[in-house]
Amino acid sequence: MLTEFELIKHCFNWPQDNEYIICGVGDDASIIQVPSGYELVQSIDTQVADVHFPASAPAQLIAQRALRCAISDLAAMGAKPQAFHLALSLPKNTSQTWLESFSSGLRACANEYDIPLIGGDTTSSPTLVITLQVQGLVPVGKALTRDKAQVGDDIWLSGEIGRSAAALKNILATPEAFRENDNGLAAAYYYPQAQIDLGQKLIGLANSAMDISDGLLQDASHIAKASHCCLNIESQSIPLNILSIEQFGQTQALQFALRGGDDYQLLFTAPLAVRKKINNLSCYRIGSVRELVQKIDSNSDIDIDIVSHSQEKWILLDDQIIQNTSMGYQHF
Ligand code: ADP
Ligand code: MG
Repeated sequence: MLTEFELIKHCFNWPQDNEYIICGVGDDASIIQVPSGYELVQSIDTQVADVHFPASAPAQLIAQRALRCAISDLAAMGAKPQAFHLALSLPKNTSQTWLESFSSGLRACANEYDIPLIGGDTTSSPTLVITLQVQGLVPVGKALTRDKAQVGDDIWLSGEIGRSAAALKNILATPEAFRENDNGLAAAYYYPQAQIDLGQKLIGLANSAMDISDGLLQDASHIAKASHCCLNIESQSIPLNILSIEQFGQTQALQFALRGGDDYQLLFTAPLAVRKKINNLSCYRIGSVRELVQKIDSNSDIDIDIVSHSQEKWILLDDQIIQNTSMGYQHF
């Protein structure tokens, strides 16, 4: 294995051509210029082997999937990618071949999204852990957030969901089997498409936005809670993947879409007045934002839902309350 410093130089210090980088990999810290009129948008994501991805998946796929997932948070805020840091914790026996493959996947993805690597940290650890801090730029005051959905807004999705969840069982059974040009279900899992262009186009159109990482129902409830409103989702309107329907049937494909994560499509709300403009962006209208119905216990004057931490009031599916069952992925 390479020493720590050889490794950084060999795998993570490729030439960067970016006018805003004042200092990149190699010094104690990076320095980036924020152009006037813009704000810095930052997000950090950790992926742990065999929790977020199968440890035996091809290294270049692990790398570029991790970066795509991280960049998706920038898309959700309407930001243009600017730079990223990589903190890598590697098992001691990691081979140079693995590292080179990881580095090439990371670099290919960084080039695709035009996001330079400007620094990081490298340590040894019993488990492979990848932490990516991404940063982007958004015009001052224009970032898309979760807390401004308005009653009457349409709810939109940027594309098909449920495809990664449909692929997951096979991916976990045979992580090494995926080939780069494979166009089956698993492509959605390994190559999530961070919606960077769309996110920026939604500035000035959408009232609220987020990316879906943990399942539509659960993530939609985050917009509802932040905006203090109720999201009614029309199941018929959710775009499902044809391969998922063919393999698992309509009912299961819908369940994958509602409760499965890892698709990284954008979920957003926007006023009726811009419906036509958003249709032109090839998005799917999947419901509408409603007034929150508070359920007050008539005897005690206490909001039952606050006491029970119930999800019920935040999300409706086809005008119905969603009972019990998990809404999506949770770590704890
Ligand atoms: P320090 O000890 O000052 O924190 P390090 O010795 O950890 O610095 O890192 C040396 C340089 O290499 C720093 O510029 C750091 O940002 C960069 N670096 C370390 N690990 C990585 C990595 N995995 N990817 C990119 N840059 C890295
Ligand atoms: Mg230092």
